[in-house]
Amino acid sequence: MRHLIIGIEELVHLDDGTNGAIVGENMKNRENLISKGNGILIEDNIITKIAPEEDLIEEFLPNFKKFDFDNNYIVKVIRNDNIKITHTGGNSVIPGLVDSHTHLIWSGDRSNELSMRMKGMSYKEISNSGGGIKYTVDQTRNSTAEFLFSQGKSRMKEALRNGTTAMEAKSGYGLSVESELLLTSVMNDLSIEKGLPSIDITWMGAHDFPEKKDKNDYIDEIINEQLPEIIEQGFARSCDVFCEPGWFSIEDTESIIDAAKVFGLSTRLHIDEFTDGSGAELAAEKSVETADHALFTSLEGRELLRKSNVNQGFLPTAPFTMGLDRWPPIEYCIENEMPWTIASDFNPNCRVLSLPSVASICVQRIGIDPLSVLCATTRNAANTVIHNTEIKHGMIKEGYLANMNVVNGDKWEGWCLQLGTSPFCATIIEGETVKHI
Ligand SMILES: [Zn+2]
Repeated sequence: MRHLIIGIEELVHLDDGTNGAIVGENMKNRENLISKGNGILIEDNIITKIAPEEDLIEEFLPNFKKFDFDNNYIVKVIRNDNIKITHTGGNSVIPGLVDSHTHLIWSGDRSNELSMRMKGMSYKEISNSGGGIKYTVDQTRNSTAEFLFSQGKSRMKEALRNGTTAMEAKSGYGLSVESELLLTSVMNDLSIEKGLPSIDITWMGAHDFPEKKDKNDYIDEIINEQLPEIIEQGFARSCDVFCEPGWFSIEDTESIIDAAKVFGLSTRLHIDEFTDGSGAELAAEKSVETADHALFTSLEGRELLRKSNVNQGFLPTAPFTMGLDRWPPIEYCIENEMPWTIASDFNPNCRVLSLPSVASICVQRIGIDPLSVLCATTRNAANTVIHNTEIKHGMIKEGYLANMNVVNGDKWEGWCLQLGTSPFCATIIEGETVKHI
């Protein structure tokens, strides 16, 4: 089925003729990354032509009647014989957003811990009183696959309403062979649901240590029991480790990711969230796909990451929800041509599924240019998140997957200036238009 997208004010396609991550001043280059007057032809789920709108209308809609679109509306979808038309109503269009770091599947509500933290209780005290990650692990282990699936589905719908068309999601709230396998299985079931974002599945048995288990015994279980079973199951593409002093040490992390690599898993890491624990040095040495958080990483560590072409995955909602007044040095990364992304870090303590809200922190709090933040949330994020169709995504470009968002306004910058509600009036996901209003 052919599908024509017309009526676009500004098309933020992000295609400057190069592939992969975009870095440095190129992230801010409006002339190369934005066009006007173009329409888009989609065939099935692929963008097959981007050309001046009048040329596409002449070629594919010879009987086009302009009055069909003369009324006031926001987005209109009509079917015309063998072609579908989405008129975006003079709004701007940006690529589908890619959430490159989520802990999507867990159960248990820990909202009560905020008031404990505000009273001055430490993470350890909260944990000792029955809260913290141990609580989430208990609740998750006691949940059925059906319950976890339905919760995951409602979270994915919310992400889609906020423009996410693909996401990475980690296990890590099971911390046992059986429970970790259940989480990756639920994620796989969700990923193949039609009309929802695709999921790139990461196994993260090394998220924390389970209660009443010796640390070394658990690392042994991860490598010799969980990993072979995860490989046998075949759903996870990557392995992730919480590499941070007090959790998995540099040596622990190295042994886990080395073992995962032997089985052909891709690797990604949580590093330097609370302190500079030399995680960046390890991430660079092992050439992991992305080193996430990277909040306390030294400038020397960042330079090593750049030299190894390792992405820095910033998660500004983590310091935001913890009340920290510390932000990643994003402008420094732009000046030094380092690849970077931003993501939601959705988890029980950070209930953010809206990438436009994360972007708003970057733009309105950290002072980063909206176009750079958009590159980080689409094109660069897609460089670390494989779509389950295995078709390229993250840009509006011929041959790419037809994933894009219609901003509710004729100025594309509106995508990252709206907190609390979705800035999009529609999302086109794998070629299908989903209206949000
Ligand atoms: Zn995380």
